[in-house]
Amino acid sequence: MEQVLSGQPSTAASTTAELLQAARKHLLFTANRPEIVMASGQGMYIQDTEGRSYIDFVGGWAVNALGHSPAVLREALTEQASRLVLASPAYFNEPMIRFAELLTGISGMDKAFFGSTGAEANECAVKLARKHGALHLDGAYEIITMRNSFHGRTLAMMSATGKQQWESLFEPKVPGFIHVPMGDLDACFSAVSNRTCAIMLELVQGEGGVHAVDEAYLFGLRKICDMYGIALIFDEVQTGLGRTGKLFAWEHYGIKPDIMTLGKGIGGGYPLSATLAVDKFNLFEPGDQGGTYIGQPLGMAVGYAVVRELLDRRLTENAQRQGGYLLGKLRLLESHNLVRNPRGLGLLAAFDMPNELAAKLAARCMELGLLVNVTGESTIRLMPPLIAEQRHIDEMADILTAALLDIS
Ligand code: PMP
Repeated sequence: MEQVLSGQPSTAASTTAELLQAARKHLLFTANRPEIVMASGQGMYIQDTEGRSYIDFVGGWAVNALGHSPAVLREALTEQASRLVLASPAYFNEPMIRFAELLTGISGMDKAFFGSTGAEANECAVKLARKHGALHLDGAYEIITMRNSFHGRTLAMMSATGKQQWESLFEPKVPGFIHVPMGDLDACFSAVSNRTCAIMLELVQGEGGVHAVDEAYLFGLRKICDMYGIALIFDEVQTGLGRTGKLFAWEHYGIKPDIMTLGKGIGGGYPLSATLAVDKFNLFEPGDQGGTYIGQPLGMAVGYAVVRELLDRRLTENAQRQGGYLLGKLRLLESHNLVRNPRGLGLLAAFDMPNELAAKLAARCMELGLLVNVTGESTIRLMPPLIAEQRHIDEMADILTAALLDIS
């Protein structure tokens, strides 16, 4: 008890075994994690406390766009940290203004709001849509979202998300979200009523297994929104900022949203997100939206540096090129009877496996020095840093091939 009150750890955890024991003792359980502890990372590689190195095709969960510990991020952090860390959300600061200018400039949107997580950015988008409903659509508040979608883990975003496993979780849900099957325009049309203020979707369902939306369908959604004056919201938290081989996934379709959200890659690992909107949705009044850490200078300086670097190094084009190469490699593996339906857009790729073998494959890959992500029970997802080169993809494919042989 004394030790707890003094704030000192009861043991100076140093070995991996001690760290794992301390983790089990002190961390609130949220997920089954492998018995390793990550310690450092550079570029495409990450190392654990045992000194084992892994080539990282999880990429911080589609976050580390510039790879691990990029110089620009380190420099922006230290430079801004010595100047001004936080000025309070009550005041403007220069990095906030510069970053908003940059993001609106590259997206063709008009206004930016900054948060820390993707879920927070989506909450802001939903608030804007509901404000629009309250002001211009006679109190309409319903948001139509897609089945199999993912929008975050706040209570409202768990309600927005179309995940069957979440349907009975944390009841009562935040009301006002209607789920429709992605791709079925008639179903969406039937779900629209005078209560509808927005349609929200991912253009490639990431957590849902890397499924891209159909172009004609998206065109139809845009038309519905225009017809009824409701907002079209694109959740580009996973797909945005080069991931799919275009700066924003909607550029593949040439269909622009009214509101778009960004997260993950925008901070290169620093927790950062943004909600971008066209002028028509510049609707908040004082008190409607805020947060202690919105637009804080440290994060804004990092975000600016990360996005600038992404643009200067043409990493979107790299994602497109390497994404094509990656998909080619996955298609070669298709001759292996465990690999099914390889698919992807840029550096967001996936394939399915039979009989819930995906977890087994991911575990074997890790033993061989490759990190891949399992989504659903039978899908392997690859979302490496956007700096990935051909040789990294070759290395990944070699390990994947060996792991497939080992588990079959
Ligand atoms: N939207 C999408 C499309 C996502 O993929 C995610 C995270 N996987 C989120 C929202 C939530 O982002 P965060 O975990 O940063 O809240």
